Amino acid sequence: MTINIIINGKKIEAQAGQTILQAAKEHDLHIPTLCYHKDLSPTGNCRMCVVEVKGGRFLQAACVTPVWEGMDIQTDSEKVVKDRRLTLQLMLANHTANCACCDVSNECELQELVYEYQAETPAWGTKGTRYKVDSDPNPFIHVDMNKCILCRRCVQACAEIQVRDVWGVAYRGFQEQIVAGAGTTLLEARCESCGQCVAYCPTGALSTKINYGQGMARAHQVTKVTTTCSYCGVGCQFDLVVKRGKVIGVASNPNSPVNGMALCVKGRFGYDYIHHPDRLTKPKVRRYLLEGGEKLKTNRKSEIANPKLEWVETDWDTALNITAKKLGEARDYFGSDSIGILTSAKCLNEENYLMNKLARQVIGTNNIDHCARL
Ligand code: SF4
Ligand code: SF4
Ligand code: SF4
Repeated sequence: MTINIIINGKKIEAQAGQTILQAAKEHDLHIPTLCYHKDLSPTGNCRMCVVEVKGGRFLQAACVTPVWEGMDIQTDSEKVVKDRRLTLQLMLANHTANCACCDVSNECELQELVYEYQAETPAWGTKGTRYKVDSDPNPFIHVDMNKCILCRRCVQACAEIQVRDVWGVAYRGFQEQIVAGAGTTLLEARCESCGQCVAYCPTGALSTKINYGQGMARAHQVTKVTTTCSYCGVGCQFDLVVKRGKVIGVASNPNSPVNGMALCVKGRFGYDYIHHPDRLTKPKVRRYLLEGGEKLKTNRKSEIANPKLEWVETDWDTALNITAKKLGEARDYFGSDSIGILTSAKCLNEENYLMNKLARQVIGTNNIDHCARL
């Protein structure tokens, strides 16, 4: 049902049941947020999205307040701006003051709003470094709770997206903090190292450990290349972060059609093989095949020592010609069903379709299968 509301003096239409934030977003009206994320249930705990509702005694959190017929809302009144600035100052009072050295500087939502509202560090001072930096021994996630603003996005991302419930809130008042399990380490609290909590954290409280200090968020130094994960057949997309010709990390791409921001530990953190010196970048064939020789009669011991069995780098045409020749010889001598083809769910559909044609129509066998683990 459509209802009429007023935002900043402008009459707009909204849907009954929508929140003020949803209605404003639909009409391209900006209301700042920190704890809100469209993928997570709204909690209204950071108070950045507060707005003034005519007739209301208090400012209302736009992300959890539903609209009603005739509602008259001010999103940027003096009172609202003052309140948001004070909220930001309270966050800064509990925050490390080293934006310049922070790994997420440039992509930090708190930094963005502190600038927008020109919120100075409060005159009554800050608490400085209260918690150990890099406080968790896990190999992937850098935890620095000195930068935590208690927005709880990590708690929700882990519970609602990954369904692991690793993060929780402990203590009350000034002592309140985000903890893994009942105050233990991430891995002991059943963390799967998927990194969803890192992707949803709006500050540098949670960041990636394996590329810490490499400038993942320095937009002017890196290029992002959207690609599809090669680890399994789900086909998740993400951005490879490239700096000076080298992949330094993986970042969630919220527009990914299959997975949104979600990735598993392999997709998010298993990228260092790309530049590994042992990685094959060209095809290799046995030397005797390059020299056109017949199959050598060998045993395991002589194979190790025989230089004709050495693997030699070659070009794709040569390698594919040798493969085609050998498959043809096997088919002609032993019959089509002596050959079987295993393909992979990691290949594109088009590639698997072509392998199917190669097996059935070129070689003449139905021996074709695939496995998601190949
Ligand atoms: S988390 Fe954000 S606000 Fe805090 S130091 Fe890092 S960049 Fe600055
Ligand atoms: S890495 Fe994944 S499983 Fe571990 S705490 Fe974060 S969201 Fe939960
Ligand atoms: S660790 Fe990050 S996501 Fe979690 S509550 Fe703190 S700031 Fe929010």
